[in-house]
Amino acid sequence: MLIGGEWIAGSGAAFTSVNPATGEVLAELREASEADVDAAVQAAHQAFVSPAWGGLLPAARAKLLLRVADLLEEHADEIARLETQDQGQPLNVSAGFSVPNAVEHFRYYAGWVTKITGVTAPLSVPGVDYRTTREPLGVCGLITPWNFPLMILVWKLAPALATGNTVVIKPAEQTPLSTLRLAELIEQAGVPAGVVNVVTGGPEAGKALVSHPLVKKISFTGSTAVGREIGAECGRTLKKVSLELGGKAPSIIAADADIDAAVQGNLLGGLLNSGQVCAAYTRFYVDAKRHDEFAEKLAGAAGSLRLGNGLDPEVHLGPLVSAEQVEQTARYVALGEDEGAELLTGGSRPDGDLAGGFFYEPTVFAGVKQDMRIAREEIFGPVLSVMPYDDPEELVLLANDSEYGLAAAVWSRDIGTANRLARQVKAGTVWINMMQGLDAAAAWGGMKSSGLGREMGWEAIEAYTEVKSIWTSLT
Ligand code: NAD
Repeated sequence: MLIGGEWIAGSGAAFTSVNPATGEVLAELREASEADVDAAVQAAHQAFVSPAWGGLLPAARAKLLLRVADLLEEHADEIARLETQDQGQPLNVSAGFSVPNAVEHFRYYAGWVTKITGVTAPLSVPGVDYRTTREPLGVCGLITPWNFPLMILVWKLAPALATGNTVVIKPAEQTPLSTLRLAELIEQAGVPAGVVNVVTGGPEAGKALVSHPLVKKISFTGSTAVGREIGAECGRTLKKVSLELGGKAPSIIAADADIDAAVQGNLLGGLLNSGQVCAAYTRFYVDAKRHDEFAEKLAGAAGSLRLGNGLDPEVHLGPLVSAEQVEQTARYVALGEDEGAELLTGGSRPDGDLAGGFFYEPTVFAGVKQDMRIAREEIFGPVLSVMPYDDPEELVLLANDSEYGLAAAVWSRDIGTANRLARQVKAGTVWINMMQGLDAAAAWGGMKSSGLGREMGWEAIEAYTEVKSIWTSLT
């Protein structure tokens, strides 16, 4: 782990990071103890008030972020391969999406550094001048999940640094390697020691960070259950908090949709990173007249995808991240069958060469009912549920009948239908006639139990700063 510019092993129990495609151990690490977490927070606190960071002019801070982006781009191939080995995502995802998105975020937020302004306001008080400034919060704890370890970290880190905060990062215990490599590049870029610290380990290290009194904000991406606990603890200690949590994104395929385009977009939107995507399209509401056509085409396309080690450039789907994730997926598939859904393709683990890794076949169920657990709960694996709807009026009620509200998709050739549905669906992001898109300039986050707050765009600048009002007497 990296604490105050020193690379140390940490003093807690040893654990390993495993390549999910092969089961091979990639690295041995140690859990951060409470003392390690405290040392990291103290280092971040010292760095926050130091002239080397706190006194840096905005243009110099922007230059550092641009340098980090350049270094990440220079090492893109190496880091993409590392991400593929540690997380499992195929190279076309890590090299084609995760690393470029991280580079884009550093550049985008480098641009903001010199443009973070306050306001002046005409107060109805005689003889005063009034303005606001935006100030950094202090030490921010960034806790990340295992599905997009580098990219999701950078969604937090780039705006946190752009606004002058310091951070302690706690990557997921399953996938710490790209975070540690990025921390090396950040050092190499010349970011002062203590500004970025990394503690490794699991929930206990995360809890120590969340409850630390010197931490001013927690930004967490992960499960809704853990998000609730973190939110409660941040309430007790009055920390600011951003929560990016689970999802069960509906994808609505109207009667007039271009079915072939919808199949292609939903295949990618449902199975990207083997379905380990919080915004994965997983419950497909298809007009009853098109249900069978859509379900059969989707199952045919899913069944033809190539599974394998993500380092092979021909592979479409890599492994799941861990044996637990495979078990969870298998449990839900069994539930779907028990509940009476029709299994069209998949439904088991592949054998042969892939038996040593954590693979699961892409699985499509048709004729799924709203009350089945596969239609309601987040599976976080390659399992897609197709459901017919008869009544377009009832459709929005079905789509919104979920505790989650992260994302949704609408497929219709009619601009009015598509936009009416987009307005009515309760979700932080709605994509019309497209698979999921992400951009540093587009706000990201969930409604309902999918989270609190927004990442990306100007919203992230607000999330890592607070407003100060300054009054001046003119007399
Ligand atoms: P998780 O909640 O189990 O763990 C996430 C992180 O929190 C890990 O680093 C973990 O070590 C840490 N952690 C666990 N318990 C903690 C505690 N009590 N206090 C502090 N830290 C703790 O989630 P996961 O299984 O790693 O990730 C999958 C989940 O993440 C899914 O539910 C998925 O939908 C969600 N996710 C959401 C988004 C989004 O943007 N909304 C993006 C990716 C993943």
